[in-house]
Amino acid sequence: MNQKSKIENRKSRPGHIIAIDGPAGSGKSTLAKLLAKELAYTYIDTGAMYRAVALKMHELVIDIEDTNVLKDFCSKINLCFENKNGINRISIDGDDYSEKIRTSFVSQLSSKVSSKKAVRDAMVRLQRLLAAKGSVIMEGRDIGTVVFPDADIKFYIDASPEVRGKRRHSELQEKGQDVSLEKIIEDEKKRDLMDSTREHAPLKKADDAVYIDTSDMTIREVVAKMLEIIKQRKIF
Ligand code: C5P
Repeated sequence: MNQKSKIENRKSRPGHIIAIDGPAGSGKSTLAKLLAKELAYTYIDTGAMYRAVALKMHELVIDIEDTNVLKDFCSKINLCFENKNGINRISIDGDDYSEKIRTSFVSQLSSKVSSKKAVRDAMVRLQRLLAAKGSVIMEGRDIGTVVFPDADIKFYIDASPEVRGKRRHSELQEKGQDVSLEKIIEDEKKRDLMDSTREHAPLKKADDAVYIDTSDMTIREVVAKMLEIIKQRKIF
């Protein structure tokens, strides 16, 4: 997409789009939530969508290698994504998936399922519809590269594998899930490899994204830096 088309698309939208991408455990969800609150934007966690679809397919014993079955499932899926007071809720066919998707098992499963084109096409369609309602902060792996190559601002949030593993470890411990740090680091490396080497929409930094390594930064420092960049761009 050339610069002229990007500018025209931005002008025609009802609000602004801030894209945040990065690997597992980079802190992008926490940052996206805080920024959305600060800017009064809607926060959209696209990873939750892939997680919910993956778990639903697992429950229904759907063969993800069967393209026709997968396409049929994706064309009928009734996925509802809501943002209530800054908190994302996700349901499929009326069943709430918001909490049960936060396990290591679903993390690995979602990485496999999200490599499938039929699944990605369905999710990207939904993500674009969600952003058509106003200003959003959308977080995922391909937001700046595929979903919104014309986003107003793009960030790529990164951190060392050890720091990312420790963050995920504390998150899971807070939820009462006892997984060793070594296993988390190993699982995340596996997932990042799958996410960044897949054929469709692999995880990568968009050329025009701002790269931030958060390994030695506190969340407050990162938020301050992102807000400073947003203000400098003068898009608001
Ligand atoms: O962000 P989160 O860890 O919840 O994402 C779970 C998985 O969903 C990722 O490992 C990735 O495979 C997939 N995903 C994706 N594209 C996105 C968001 C998530 O492929 N935009």
